[in-house]
Amino acid sequence: MKRMMIIMGTRPEAIKLCPLVLELKKRDRFSVSVCTVGQHSDLLKDVLKIFGVTADFCLEIDRSHPSIGVLTSQIMEKVGILLSGEKPELVVVQGDTATAFASGLAAFYEGIPVAHVEAGLRTYRLDAPFPEELHRRALSLVAKYHFAPTALSKRNLLREGIAEDSVYKTGNTSVDALRMSLSGALGGVSTCFPPNVRLLLFTAHRRESLGAPLAGMLRALRRVVEETPDVLALCPLHPNPEIRRIANEELFGARRIRVIEPPSFVDFHRLLSQSYLVLTDSGGIQEETVTLGIPTVVMRYSSERTEGMCAGVLRLAGSDEDGIYEVVKRLLEKDSAEYAAMKKPSAVFGDGRASVRIADLLEKSS
Ligand code: UDP
Repeated sequence: MKRMMIIMGTRPEAIKLCPLVLELKKRDRFSVSVCTVGQHSDLLKDVLKIFGVTADFCLEIDRSHPSIGVLTSQIMEKVGILLSGEKPELVVVQGDTATAFASGLAAFYEGIPVAHVEAGLRTYRLDAPFPEELHRRALSLVAKYHFAPTALSKRNLLREGIAEDSVYKTGNTSVDALRMSLSGALGGVSTCFPPNVRLLLFTAHRRESLGAPLAGMLRALRRVVEETPDVLALCPLHPNPEIRRIANEELFGARRIRVIEPPSFVDFHRLLSQSYLVLTDSGGIQEETVTLGIPTVVMRYSSERTEGMCAGVLRLAGSDEDGIYEVVKRLLEKDSAEYAAMKKPSAVFGDGRASVRIADLLEKSS
């Protein structure tokens, strides 16, 4: 039996890795252990609970210091000690977080092969997203297996000289999670909204959005909502205290904008599917809205998910107040042809079977 360890540290990693954990655990060839790193402890534990996945190792991280370097070095040290004792034959990491990067590097130093799920996403700008672009590029140097979600991400890796026989196009496991949750298999609750209300879902959490850009995004939202009486906006707030402070300041007294605690991903997926328009700087949410065909304004200047723009569902609006205001205002116009053209589901990010493909590939190569 091949002993593998799956390491995750944030909510999106857990959402995208749990379907794979469940799939790998069905197979006799593998002995799977799960390690959580407390980069976002509470949000991550909630996701594991919904999927019914239990962590075998929980590494606590001191988050009192804001430096990414301090965070990354703690993860490397703790994961390094765990790996040198446990000696799994494969380490699986996902995406581009500090946990994925530091764990991949720790495995590399221990001589343990690394499988990278969601490999090959690029903006080719080290400042956006920061520091994720560095993390994913570095992971491509240390990984043995590269599971690229799309044809574009596979092409990026091949162009960078990664050996073709180590790169596999699998689809994104985020679509597996989305399909599982919308099928009702994971429980959750639906919210009812009056039929004549158009729902706007707003999320922002990126490091490069903090401060003035986030304040501008919220002001744009407030202006649009004030001018459009049939719109209701929901803003699930990321736990980051700086985000909460800015949101409270900019949205104080705003009508028809509800600030809410972050819903579980299952409830969040339902809200997405009920939304008229989504405004976000998130990466994973772009995959979900493209899959569902929910028109989305991406509040960034670049995206590593350009497939969603080609599919027509995503509109890049930058992070400046007036730019966002103009795009959203246009899309909310009655009978907007631009809006109608964006509202079409696309399978460009996956078909819900990425975990099966990854497990098959790992089984074949073991
Ligand atoms: N999500 C959630 N609740 C929320 C906001 C997002 O469960 O209030 C989910 C969302 O469905 C997606 C993931 O979290 O699967 C995206 O995470 P996030 O935006 O924090 O990170 P990113 O994808 O940008 O790394």
